Amino acid sequence: MELDSKCPTGPIETRWDRHKFGLKLVNPANKRKYTILVVGTGLAGGSAAASLAELGYNVKCFCFQDSPRRAHSIAAQGGINAAKNYHNDGDSVYRLFYDTVKGGDFRARESNVYRLADISLDIIDQCVAQGVPFAREYSGYLDNRSFGGAQVSRTFYARGQTGQQLLLGAYQALERQIGLGTVSMFPRTEMLDLIVIDGHARGIVTRNLLTGKIESHFGDAVVLGTGGYGNVYYLSTNAKGSNATAIWRAHKRGALFGNPCFTQIHPTCIPVSGEYQSKLTLMSESLRNDGRVWVPLKKDDTRPASQIPEAERDYYLERRYPSFGNLVPRDVASRNAKMVCDEGRGVGETKLAVYLDFRDAIGRLGTHVIKERYGNLFDMYERIAGEDPYRQPMRIYPAIHYTMGGLWVDYNLMTTIPGLYAIGEANFSDHGANRLGASALMQGLADGYFVLPNTINDYVASTKLDKVDSTHAAVRDAEAQVTGTTAKLLNNKGTRSVDSFHRELGKLMWDYCGMSRNAEGLKLALSKIPGLREQYWREVKVLGSGDELNQSLEKAGRVRDFFELAELMCLDALERNESCGGHFREEYQTPEGEAARDDEHYSYAAAWEFRGVGNRPDLHKEALNFEYVHPAQRSYK
Ligand SMILES: Cc1cc2nc3c(=O)[nH]c(=O)nc-3n(C[C@H](O)[C@H](O)[C@H](O)COP(=O)(O)OP(=O)(O)OC[C@H]3O[C@@H](n4cnc5c(N)ncnc54)[C@H](O)[C@@H]3O)c2cc1C
Repeated sequence: MELDSKCPTGPIETRWDRHKFGLKLVNPANKRKYTILVVGTGLAGGSAAASLAELGYNVKCFCFQDSPRRAHSIAAQGGINAAKNYHNDGDSVYRLFYDTVKGGDFRARESNVYRLADISLDIIDQCVAQGVPFAREYSGYLDNRSFGGAQVSRTFYARGQTGQQLLLGAYQALERQIGLGTVSMFPRTEMLDLIVIDGHARGIVTRNLLTGKIESHFGDAVVLGTGGYGNVYYLSTNAKGSNATAIWRAHKRGALFGNPCFTQIHPTCIPVSGEYQSKLTLMSESLRNDGRVWVPLKKDDTRPASQIPEAERDYYLERRYPSFGNLVPRDVASRNAKMVCDEGRGVGETKLAVYLDFRDAIGRLGTHVIKERYGNLFDMYERIAGEDPYRQPMRIYPAIHYTMGGLWVDYNLMTTIPGLYAIGEANFSDHGANRLGASALMQGLADGYFVLPNTINDYVASTKLDKVDSTHAAVRDAEAQVTGTTAKLLNNKGTRSVDSFHRELGKLMWDYCGMSRNAEGLKLALSKIPGLREQYWREVKVLGSGDELNQSLEKAGRVRDFFELAELMCLDALERNESCGGHFREEYQTPEGEAARDDEHYSYAAAWEFRGVGNRPDLHKEALNFEYVHPAQRSYK
């Protein structure tokens, strides 16, 4: 298969404008003749559904929560990037573009990243116009703070609730269209398959999560804004419901999967405390603006933090990376935390934690300022860890947080199935091998508010589609598959819970395809996953029935997909014999322990084609070209 990224060429500053001009338009009066299915109501799906309806399309929108505004995006804490340069500290669209390409360790497309940086300006204007209550500084301008991988302050925020406030903005826009009758909303409805007819995405099969009813919905295009797949690791900072089912089932219908092994470990999470924990909690990266990360200089130092004198503390990020200090990107901060803990200098009971200390900031600024900036995060920490972070340092450790991989999409955000689009965290994204903090919200909203509403017209205007209904063989086949899998899961005579399998898979993934990987471990994981998957089908027990609210059944289907996806992630990680961004292969590192890329052999986006469960998928490669930001060893020193 030839991968055509459809990336424009020529001066980077004008690529998107010229590309847009070349796209076909649909006359406003004709738009209402077309139906677009949007799966997902997070920042990506919610903004896309509202925008497409505003343009005049008929939209059917789906989410599995009871309300669109409960999408996982609501959990985003820290902020959203935009190159407004309000602080006059040297920011520009070009600098955001540069930081993002470098931050992603040169594994993203320049054209996409430049467009993203450029659109960041419009996003803030749009959200302010919607009434999103961003923090302001004394003059009345919007305030900014810093996030990792940047030396400027470009992160807009609404306390520690930025995702919630942005999502309320998108939700209002969506509700307005629901009120106008241009969006039909289907909450508590899970997409379980994609309907492909004559090579085009024409619909989805869904299950009503309250009644169990299986139904098909048809449209002229399908948009997946279904989020990331970090929960393959069981323990992650993601909402418990986040899953890969929509993108995975689209993958099985022909959409190539891009860079599945590119996962992000966030350095500042509340550490794991026991075997039976089911969720990890993020402490926002914004805390690294004022918190200082350290461990004791000595191994196995059991003294409380307050009794360790300054001279016996190692502020290892400030020491190793003097120019970026505590604000190095996430992959670098995470690896360093692991390194000091591996040396035996970790803190707390498990020794798998480092300190994030606000003592100096509180001394400099006063408790009231720290409370104003991070109050809700401090409260959350105290509730979970049982320690007061105003008095003693937080204990933090890296955890799975975000997935840069996802469905491969071209510059128009279309997957390899014509008419199927993927937006937000569901696509393989503009972040390369490592996402910079506060850039996911930017990308989700760029995709939903600004990119997709332009590019989808071109497909609609240039594609002649026949009418479809539920009698079509492809529809009957997709529905039969969904019904069959549901019945198989419910009728299984096993004895083990879905969660116990999920936990086992997650541990395997964390141990062998987590913060660092090596060929031996990946091969071991690849030898174990198929057996565990087969055992799952033999031994899983799903309680309840199929015609009622049944969360055990919902989970069972999602975990089934995680098993298949996990195998692809390990394969992709094994295939990529280099370290880049969050993909740290122990065999490939510089003498200082930094990621060592191999641009000669691996400067490509991997796009995998499904060949059946248990069969080796085909690898396609999209070569990456860098005309503006020339690949170099990333340095944050
Ligand atoms: C704790 C936390 C804090 C974060 N903080 C920040 C931050 O400060 N800044 C930043 O830039 N990023 C942050 N991120 C990342 C960011 O929140 C996510 O990447 C982003 O919100 C994803 O948005 P999305 O619209 O792509 O998907 P989501 O918000 O995950 O939405 C997915 C939607 O798809 C629906 N869906 C999924 N599957 C199906 C299905 N099969 N059928 C029907 N519906 C389905 C869901 O119901 C939901 O509506 C954070 C992430 C976490 C975990």
